[in-house]
Order: sequence, then C-alpha cells, then structure tokens
Amino acid sequence: MTLKAEIISVGTELLLGTTINSDAADVALLLSEYGINVYWQTVVGDNPGRVIEAVQRAKSRADIIITTGGLGPTCDDLTKNAIAEAFGLSLVLNEEEERWLRNLWRERHYTSLDITPNNLQQVMLPEGSTALRNDWGTAPGCAFRAEGVLVIMLPGPPKEIRPMLEHRVRPILASLSDGIIASHTIHFFGIGESEMEYQLRDYMNSLTNPTLAPYAKQAECLVRVTASAHTREEAETMMAPVIERVRGMFGDLAYGMDTTGLPEFTTKLMLEKGVTLATAESCTGGELAKAVTDIPGASAVLKGGVVVYTNEAKTRLLGVPARLIEEKGAVSYEVAVELAHRVRELMGSDYGVGVTGLAGPDGDGVHEVGTVFISLADSEGVWVREKHLSRRGRENVRLYACQNAFDMLRRRIAGLDLEGKVFP
Ligand code: ATP
Ligand code: MG
Repeated sequence: MTLKAEIISVGTELLLGTTINSDAADVALLLSEYGINVYWQTVVGDNPGRVIEAVQRAKSRADIIITTGGLGPTCDDLTKNAIAEAFGLSLVLNEEEERWLRNLWRERHYTSLDITPNNLQQVMLPEGSTALRNDWGTAPGCAFRAEGVLVIMLPGPPKEIRPMLEHRVRPILASLSDGIIASHTIHFFGIGESEMEYQLRDYMNSLTNPTLAPYAKQAECLVRVTASAHTREEAETMMAPVIERVRGMFGDLAYGMDTTGLPEFTTKLMLEKGVTLATAESCTGGELAKAVTDIPGASAVLKGGVVVYTNEAKTRLLGVPARLIEEKGAVSYEVAVELAHRVRELMGSDYGVGVTGLAGPDGDGVHEVGTVFISLADSEGVWVREKHLSRRGRENVRLYACQNAFDMLRRRIAGLDLEGKVFP
C-alpha cells in the first residue's frame, strides 16, 4: 500500500508571502525518494485554533503528517500544543533533551542566569514521542504514532530542517519501506527541454521501473532516472542500461551525471586535468569568474579575470586596439577573439575565455538585444560562438552566456566538436 502524506507548514510569514515555503519542498523531495505520495500541503498561520483544525483534517486523511515550524521558544511557537490537543495527548518534559539544552545553554554562555522557562517549552514533547535531536539549532523535533498516523514535527529554519531531514527523518522513512528508491540525474546542454521530451517520449512511456523524468533548470536540461528496488546495488543494475541508452540518444549533448550543473562540472573537470583559466568579461560583469570561484578549489583553476565593461577598459586593460573596436563594434566576433586571446596571454593560462554581448534591455543600434559572442582561446587557436538569446531578459542572457563558455571549455577539454574556429 502506498502511504499518503500531508505536510503542514506553520507560520504567518508563509501566508503573507514574505517567506517562501522552501521547507515543504525539502520535505516533499525526501518523501518522494521513499515512494511516499504527498497528497496535501497545508500552510497555516500562527493561530492555535486554525493549526488544530489543520491537524484534525490531516489526521483524518493521511498516514503520515510532517509539520514544519513553530517549535521554538517564543509564544508564536504553538505547533506542539496544537498537535497534542488534536491527538488528545499531554506535553511532557523530555529529560534527556532538557539536559542537552541546559548544557548547550551553559556552553554558549547565553547569560549568567539559568535557562529561562520559555526555553524549556522547547523540550516539552507529546507523551510517547521520540525526540529528534536538533544539533543545528535548539528546538528538538519529535516523532510519534497515534491513531494509526505517524507524526513528525520539525523546526522551521531551513538551515535546521535540511540536516534534520537528512539525519533524523531519512532513517525513519527508510525503516517504513522494505526497499529503496535510487536515482541519477543526467545533465544536458545545447538542447531544450521540450525537444528532449519529444525525443524521449516513446521510450519514457515504455518504462515503468526505472522511470525517466525530464526537466529544465538554470539554462540546462536534466533527465532523472529513478529505480525502486530492494537494494542499492539492484537499483544501480536496473538503471545502468537506461542511462546508457539515454546518453546514447543525445551523444555529446549529455555532459555529465549527478552534478549541480555545468559550472561545477566544468570547474571540477579543469581541476582534475590541472589546467588553468583566465577570463575577460564584458556583458557578464564577472559572473563567469564568480561561477568558477563558487566551486571549492577554484584557485587552482582561475588565474584571474578582468571585467572590461567599457571600450576604454578593453583597450587599457587588455590592449584591444581602439580602432578595431571602432570598426567592428565592441559586440563583435573580432573583439571576442581579442578578449580570449589577450587575457590568456596576459595571465599565461591554458585557456582564455571572453564574453561580449548585449544583455539588454537597450541595444547598440547594430545588434539585436541578446547577441553575445563567447570566445575560447588555447595554444592551438581561438573559437567563437555567436548566440542570439533574444527575449530572455538581461539576467538570462548573462546566464546563457556563462553556460556557453562552460560548454565550450568542457568540449575543448574532452576533445569534442567545437564549432567556430577562427584563429590562427
Ligand atoms: P525557532 O527556534 O527559530 O523559532 P521554529 O521551529 O519555531 O524555529 P519558526 O519560528 O516557525 O520555526 O520559523 C523560524 C524561521 O524559519 C522563520 O522566520 C522563517 O524565516 C523560517 N521558516 C519557517 N518556516 C519556514 C518554511 N516553511 N519554509 C522556509 N522557511 C521557513
Ligand atoms: Mg519560532
């Protein structure tokens, strides 16, 4: 029997829209890994009556209730009271958690005084429940079974609930099912989500376990392969041929697996190969260099970068001839070549990357908004990609420009096809 779950997020800030309900998304993602269906997500404000009502409705229809928020020491933290009330349970002091909290209090020297009574509210848990130690905050979560329903209560702050889900809730969910759900994500660049879905559709529909699900994220596409099996090994064996077939269908458009995206994949590839990079950015304003430096260990890869936003900067910092800019325009093939080539020479790196384009909203009177030239130089030549990323908005034009730079790099490093060689 598949289990039905309801997530109840408590907090007036969620209703007002000042805080996005990321906790519910995190809980839902974990539940889906265990094949537990989330049928309902309820958001309710910090109001005792309405929280009790929400819990009563949830317990009448769900097998699992997971609450987020409202476990803290302040008077708007009322989730435990409401849950206890709805299930007719009393709240009892959990001595082990009390000892832990008093210890923490002393260690942190909150005050020379003893712990304030409102703080002890946090360790009052519904009778019969198991405390879920919160090593990332102060309010413990808890879990209990009553009236055939499994209830799990978790704190609201994302930096607390995320590790709590991983280290406290995952083991509970794992113990509920006799199997596991495993998945891999195959990443693509250079193909749109709808085209990918179209090409995959027949194969996707023919599968039941593993399953395939395509989606788009951060200027690239992904396909998630998910298998349900008794063991991890069994799931891997089931997924391997599916992964191979999907990768085979799209060739080198598939660049990697189980990564956060092209920036991470490419930076790690450069780290692995021990090669270095220098960047000369105009319309991306340093975003490319930032994306590289977001990855730990990037100092071994990025030798440096310049933001040459104006014509003057292109000339003074990199020596791009003013006449060339005047003749061809700052947004041009020729200037892109110069950017990559010159920054590479200047820094003595293995690769140089240049980006020049019109992110918009205003154009230059020559090119349409969204025109971007991305260039890559190494010891053997310079390659330039010309992209027309119109109607995407300033932010997306920049994002796509960076993605293209990473794609050119990963292709060049892997010895794959790279169009647009112009030099020498
Ligand atoms: P604390 O001990 O910090 O009071 P708590 O468990 O009582 O934790 P809340 O008081 O409900 O949690 O929320 C604390 C903060 O966590 C909120 O100000 C909000 O920024 C964030 N938060 C709460 N609920 C959510 C949610 N569902 N999604 C994302 N952030 C949330
Ligand atoms: Mg609170």
